Amino acid sequence: MSLNDAPPRSGKVGFVSLGCPKALVDSERILTQLRVEGYDIVPTYDDADVVVVNTCGFIDSAVTESLDAIGEAIAENGKVIVTGCLGKRPEQIREAHPDVLAISGPQDYASVMNAIYAALPPKHDPFIDLVPRRAAAEDDIGIKLTPKHYAYLKISEGCNHRCSFCIIPSMRGDLVSRPVDEVLREAERLARGGVRELLVVSQDTSAYGVDVRYAERTWRDRAYQTRMKSLCEGLSELGIWTRLHYVYPYPHVDEIIPLMADGKLLPYLDIPFQHASPRILKLMKRPGAVDKTLERIQRWRSICPELTIRSTFIVGFPGETEAEFEQLLDFLDEAQLDRVGAFAYSPVEGATANALPDAVPDEVKQERLARFMERQADISAARLEAKVGTVQRCLVDAVDGDLAIARSMADAPEIDGLVQIQNGFEAGLKPGEFVDVEIMGSDEHDLYGEVAFDD
Ligand code: SF4
Repeated sequence: MSLNDAPPRSGKVGFVSLGCPKALVDSERILTQLRVEGYDIVPTYDDADVVVVNTCGFIDSAVTESLDAIGEAIAENGKVIVTGCLGKRPEQIREAHPDVLAISGPQDYASVMNAIYAALPPKHDPFIDLVPRRAAAEDDIGIKLTPKHYAYLKISEGCNHRCSFCIIPSMRGDLVSRPVDEVLREAERLARGGVRELLVVSQDTSAYGVDVRYAERTWRDRAYQTRMKSLCEGLSELGIWTRLHYVYPYPHVDEIIPLMADGKLLPYLDIPFQHASPRILKLMKRPGAVDKTLERIQRWRSICPELTIRSTFIVGFPGETEAEFEQLLDFLDEAQLDRVGAFAYSPVEGATANALPDAVPDEVKQERLARFMERQADISAARLEAKVGTVQRCLVDAVDGDLAIARSMADAPEIDGLVQIQNGFEAGLKPGEFVDVEIMGSDEHDLYGEVAFDD
């Protein structure tokens, strides 16, 4: 059997998306994650092994529409996972449709993925898993759900860590890195196919190559190590944006900051810090030297002042005291991170954290989450406001009426903010084009500006 004939690695997923733009963004994120993990997205109930319904629960008619959509999916397919706003009222869903496989609330991507793993257990084959499924032809960039101008570049599978809240290592196994030359060739094909931004993804980007002892390979007659820094050096040869996601806070992340300062790599790091209390981090089985992390962030910013740091955190982890939660708020104040996502802890079946004592009551978790988001909203708004009056290099995603919708170097697609270019249509901008934008306004998430024309 040739690689092109390889069966789908994990199965076929149907998707029904209802609700507001925020729900749509959730759908996009779940679909993107499914794609990154190798699932096929199919358009009919008949073709699907399982169907995800992303619901809305805002008003009564939306609830009815959501319940009807779930009913239709059950009648047509039978295996249905429900997520989204109506997922906050599981009893209402179960009463109408007792057979749904799993229910989760909005933005709970992890629960949706876990339900999919449970419904469609991955057939782990380290060789097939790491081969792009349609990579035979030189210029074939495979099936992309993302717009033509950006693409996810998956560099490894699995993870060597054992964070206590996570079951990915038990589902996906230990780290298996793709050889660096293969990744660089895929990136080269994507760039030739019109991709202007590569989003490097994995479970732990900074561990890249440790499993193969940083094996050296050749690309374009030059030796590269299977290692994060060397990969970034190779990707910088393509002359397009490279953005790193899911970087674990190891000391050797220091090595790539000079590449960012030199413009070879986007000055952007997505590092899930998860918490800032050393005791909670220890319970999470994550690195706990918070003082060193803060020092490191300062050092990175002194080398590369335009560095954007995105992170995610879990509030209400078992045993988290009010004082430990406040340590987390203090960390936010000190670290001044640009972009932050947060989740109230919820147990994942099979995770070792489930055995920890002193679960935090739901209402306390929600109250802490709200305080956390409020504190960060002020920080994010201030950091965006500081950009008013500057000129930012942006990549255009879409043109909508008079506006062009773009992203600056500080904005990853789907998870960060946008730059609205007021005169985008007049300036003749097209999706996939780079443009310098004079920033004239800001809010908590987004920037507003106009194309900066040369005099
Ligand atoms: S949270 Fe991330 S780093 Fe930790 S075990 Fe899971 S995949 Fe690995």
